[in-house]
Amino acid sequence: MNTSFYKAGFCAFSILTLASCGATYTPQPAKEGLEVTPAQNQVMEYVRKVQNQSDESDLAFEIVKSLTVEVGPRIPGSSGDKRAVVWAENKLNELGFDKVYKQAVRVRNWERGFADANVIKPYPQPLVITALGGSIATPESGIEAPVVMFESLEALSKASANEIEGKIVFLNTRMQRHKAGRFYSQVVPNRVNGAVEASKLGASAVIIRSVGTDNSRFAHTGVMRYEDGVTKIPAGAISIADANNLEAMFTGNTEVLLNINMQAKDAGWQTSYNVIGEFTGTEKPNEVVLVSGHLDSWDEGTGALDDGAGVGIATAAATLVKKVVGQPKRTIRVVLFAAEEIGLIGARQYVRDNKDSLKNIIMAGESDFGAGPIYQIDTRFNEAVRSDASELYAELAKIGVVLGNNTTNGGPDVSIMPKLGVPVIALKQDGTYYFDYHHTPNDTLDKINLADITQNQTVWAMITTYMAMSDFDPRPAPEAAP
Ligand code: ZN
Ligand code: ZN
Repeated sequence: MNTSFYKAGFCAFSILTLASCGATYTPQPAKEGLEVTPAQNQVMEYVRKVQNQSDESDLAFEIVKSLTVEVGPRIPGSSGDKRAVVWAENKLNELGFDKVYKQAVRVRNWERGFADANVIKPYPQPLVITALGGSIATPESGIEAPVVMFESLEALSKASANEIEGKIVFLNTRMQRHKAGRFYSQVVPNRVNGAVEASKLGASAVIIRSVGTDNSRFAHTGVMRYEDGVTKIPAGAISIADANNLEAMFTGNTEVLLNINMQAKDAGWQTSYNVIGEFTGTEKPNEVVLVSGHLDSWDEGTGALDDGAGVGIATAAATLVKKVVGQPKRTIRVVLFAAEEIGLIGARQYVRDNKDSLKNIIMAGESDFGAGPIYQIDTRFNEAVRSDASELYAELAKIGVVLGNNTTNGGPDVSIMPKLGVPVIALKQDGTYYFDYHHTPNDTLDKINLADITQNQTVWAMITTYMAMSDFDPRPAPEAAP
């Protein structure tokens, strides 16, 4: 693979030799019994062919590049988000999807505005701060108040209102790096629930140590929540370097006085869209293999890792199947979900709008953890038939992707589907450095490694091929369906 492909126009396929492109698929008889039938051999031939072609294609990277360069930041309901929807429709059409359509999603738009923070006492100096998504503004002159620091939300919950009243609460929990990002779920409640918990005790504002694993001066944004009946207070995140600095000012009984000024605002209801592209199945058009990413992003970076990568990987994987194998037997549907960042809003809309046809989804998956290499496939399949796809698992194992558990909920947007009877997969990626960049101005294209995102594309394309070309059906047995 080389980067000269990028200069040759959008579609990497235009310069690849794909002699086998087009209608090479001949419908095969359904498999019988457990022996390997010619039809199964044919499916695995397709899988290997797609794998080989994908390894030579930069398409996933090319798509992320196009999205980040031509659209950039795309907070739900913003002008960037609206341009992303147009971009996505055009891209899916350009790639030759049979059907491209969109699904309206009502979203609450929010504008970040200006934010700064200054230590007034004991050692006056500025701190790097960013508003958390959904936060209200401070008064125009800011909020000046003593800071009270807590190690965790739990420690805050044990404090008395006397300690907190009128003060700025600083939630200072460190997050460790981990390949699967397992510490994120432990620290992210500071961001999501910090304002409510601090406000219940009378705080005037809350700031958190960024939910991240870097040591840069970029603060990490992300969604936060208010609760009915609890006074709304402004909420921001300071960078990890600044959190270290602020923490070091707390010695003995020193009073730490801070001024924060954030002018974020609610910008009202807007319409966004799930953008959907399909390659229609020849034999079983109603049976759907669903691969996805989310189109929206936070606004400070260009949303390359989160989730331009997923958009690129899912779209490229589906496109490769069509280009290499021809028209699939089952329908392949790419869903680029709206408004994942503010609470899976697009996914919830998708489930509502498609409630009668969810039973036709053979498998759903979302790529939303950056572009690190995949090392494991977790599933939520009908246990009784899971091993019927053993040839696929064996092929994936050859490239370092091992079969994991059968209890996953899939990626964020598809996580609401298993309880509705939809089989899901989660392809676990090496996310050791994902939270260095997540939701920061530093989430940009240069953080994506071409070989790594191509590995993702190949693994998704292999699985999509298998699911779209075989009779493997991991849906719950009828009596077990909800
Ligand atoms: Zn995401
Ligand atoms: Zn995100």
